[in-house]
Amino acid sequence: MQLRSVSVDSALLNCVKRALIGKDVDSRIVTPSNDTYYAASSGAVLFTEYPAIIAYATSINEISPLVQCGSTTGYKVTPRSGGHHFQNWSALNGTLVVDISHINYVNISEDLSTATIAAGAKLGQIYEILDQTGHTMIAGICPTVALGGYLGVGGYNMQMRVEGMAVDHIRSIKTVLANGSTVTASASENPDLFWASRGGGTYGFTVEATIETAVLPRSAMLWMNFTGPTRTEATQKYLDWASHQDPHFNSQLNLYGGYAGVVGWYLGKTVEELTAIVKPSGLLDVPGVNYTITGNCSTENSRNYWQYTQTTCTDDATAHEAFNTEYNVVPDDFTPVPGAVAQYGFDDVPILPNQTKAKPWNRVSIINKTYFVTKSKPLDQETIEYIVEKSGALPAELSFWTEMTIFNISVPATSAFPWQEEAQYLFRFEVVRSTNATLQAIGQKFMDDLDAYLIPRIGSASYAGYVDADISVNPYAAYWGDNVCRLSSVKEQYDPTSFFSNPFSIPPTKPEGISC
Ligand SMILES: Cc1cc2nc3c(=O)[nH]c(=O)nc-3n(C[C@H](O)[C@H](O)[C@H](O)COP(=O)(O)OP(=O)(O)OC[C@H]3O[C@@H](n4cnc5c(N)ncnc54)[C@H](O)[C@@H]3O)c2cc1C
Repeated sequence: MQLRSVSVDSALLNCVKRALIGKDVDSRIVTPSNDTYYAASSGAVLFTEYPAIIAYATSINEISPLVQCGSTTGYKVTPRSGGHHFQNWSALNGTLVVDISHINYVNISEDLSTATIAAGAKLGQIYEILDQTGHTMIAGICPTVALGGYLGVGGYNMQMRVEGMAVDHIRSIKTVLANGSTVTASASENPDLFWASRGGGTYGFTVEATIETAVLPRSAMLWMNFTGPTRTEATQKYLDWASHQDPHFNSQLNLYGGYAGVVGWYLGKTVEELTAIVKPSGLLDVPGVNYTITGNCSTENSRNYWQYTQTTCTDDATAHEAFNTEYNVVPDDFTPVPGAVAQYGFDDVPILPNQTKAKPWNRVSIINKTYFVTKSKPLDQETIEYIVEKSGALPAELSFWTEMTIFNISVPATSAFPWQEEAQYLFRFEVVRSTNATLQAIGQKFMDDLDAYLIPRIGSASYAGYVDADISVNPYAAYWGDNVCRLSSVKEQYDPTSFFSNPFSIPPTKPEGISC
């Protein structure tokens, strides 16, 4: 592992030491001189960054003093909650990274209709706690994504076609601004900040949010698998069909080099109702198809489908046990960084301490390209054929994967997430980065060619949750659409010096290439 020698700024270090309260202060500060630095500055998606210091907060009362440490010593502060940024920009070079993954309380209101949740809580932790009361949160698939970063991108999920994005279910957020003050943002208090912080990126350091809880009905689940030679036919039929169904049906097609799979969740419906919508799709007639349609599924059963732990629903207790293996996560939940000294684990207790602990989340090293297919630029058959056939010809070692997620959301946006009305599908493509130069070149060329082919056909809308540093179009327009100018004025009001920023975050002045 190549460690860069970076000296530690003693003014910053001393300030951070004073800002952290309570126990284990020294072990909660990682500097470039610690052998755990490389692991501590890595996230779910492996890219090397060299932060000045990483400070692990364990109380939201530490955030304002830490923010002020940054501003008084001349360092920007980078908030890190779940560490799932696709470019690892939550561990930015030269900044004070404040990691809140150990602040993960979930406090449910007495009437169970809302929950106040620390921004460091991961989706798995939130689901586990809410599930105990028969409630859940309208939110995504990945157990280890945390609320802090999820709020800033919108949060697509498998109830969204009828419920909207995760951020449509947020009542208020508590944020530490660049000047160290703590403010509440809601529909009635700081409404512009509330709008922007949900789906529009980072305008302050979010420490807590109050969400509306949800009670989801038992559902019917679809699982399908198609063999290699039928990938094109299956993908065509699926894309022609799925987005036009009842919005209670949310689904995704996962396309790999050698096969394709579909997972579908028909919220509150029965086997008969699901069978009735699947039959006309023609998918059951694709040669060699394997499929299951199961009913009376608990929400934990349904979420398990996306973790590949089951393809039929089981009784609730068995499903809960399987659910724990993915969702009962610990604060430091990643697999070790290959070749690096392991991060010091000062608290690896799962959120339900007496139940089965989730396995660590696999870090990945990938090339990623993501596109919304919008209603104004519908997909044609040739484009689908291009995607399926070119990807089928890639070497298996590149582990090609596309998630094709159905949008066509039926409720209007309440947030700065820009594509709620327009998006028909979200396509996210990935191949692994290879240490073999030939394979790496093949993977990179495939992605570059794909990008050049797709953009004229489907447009350049993309998802801020899957940021690509090599995006070939204007990133502001791609990630924030028509909301860029309004977001920029919110930034000017709440974070005029761009104290919280990354290479593609909204600036306080009109961004390059955008006319306001
Ligand atoms: C494996 C994987 C699966 C995913 N699945 C989904 C999915 O199903 N649905 C979906 O919508 N998205 C998904 N995403 C995208 C994910 O929602 C975004 O990357 C999200 O921003 C990650 O949040 P985080 O807190 O985990 O990450 P971090 O890396 O900690 O943060 C991401 C960004 O948000 C900023 N940030 C973090 N915490 C705060 C805070 N408290 N206040 C202000 N800014 C903050 C960071 O500085 C950084 O810019 C997935 C990502 C990965 C890697």
